[in-house]
Amino acid sequence: MKRRLIHILIVVLFVVALFGTALPAGVQQHLVQKGETLSEIAQKYEVPLKSIIQANSIKSAHRIRTGRMLRIPGESLTFEDIWYKIQPGDTLFSIGRRHNIEWRDLQRINGISSPRSLQVGKMIRISEPGPDFGKPLRGRLVVTSKYGYRPHPVTGRYQHHAGIDFRAATGTSVYASKGGRIIFAGRKGGYGKIVVIEHEDNFTTWYGHLSRIRVKVGQIVSQGKVIGLSGNTGISTGPHLHFEIRYKGRSENPTKYITIP
Ligand SMILES: [Zn+2]
Repeated sequence: MKRRLIHILIVVLFVVALFGTALPAGVQQHLVQKGETLSEIAQKYEVPLKSIIQANSIKSAHRIRTGRMLRIPGESLTFEDIWYKIQPGDTLFSIGRRHNIEWRDLQRINGISSPRSLQVGKMIRISEPGPDFGKPLRGRLVVTSKYGYRPHPVTGRYQHHAGIDFRAATGTSVYASKGGRIIFAGRKGGYGKIVVIEHEDNFTTWYGHLSRIRVKVGQIVSQGKVIGLSGNTGISTGPHLHFEIRYKGRSENPTKYITIP
């Protein structure tokens, strides 16, 4: 009889443990494996990288600890998941508590100098922004041609330069500026050998005139991965890296996103 009671107790405890820790609908868990990147995890679950960063209050997406249990949200972030309009009586602490983010992080993300004087009606970010674009080359960047209108160095015709040219001896490693998926790797007209990476939020980065390509279409790469070696292929007057950042297919000035001395 006593043994039977213990059995029942064990079953009850098991059920409580099972349902007591149940996650909200649509949320899954993922145990970070060795060498796994956040981009890869996001890709695996087909959710935006930002959703995972926000759901787990991740500060540095580049260093993610092996063995960490991540919450994988079921749906993509909505405007309300990212932005919050400050209401009368709000404090960073109360906003943080409601949105599961530390008030110090809110202060940092929004660049708030005096947390005591919040401006009612102002929108503030309640999630970590995605990781920024990084430099496609290591060491000091030397710009040999800027973004914008210029006479083309080969044709002499005045035309728009859709990217920035960086000085780079042939064979210099070229790094993914941001994690994403390779959507092109091969020859493309004047670009010569080029790699194009698709990132979250409708951004793509382009790396032209390469001598070697080290990635394949469909491959997921993390930020800082070597995608190829610089060179002088296509229409080019000398070895350099042509680097573009495009938003919804339209080129933007890369200096908007990466700091170039
Ligand atoms: Zn160029």
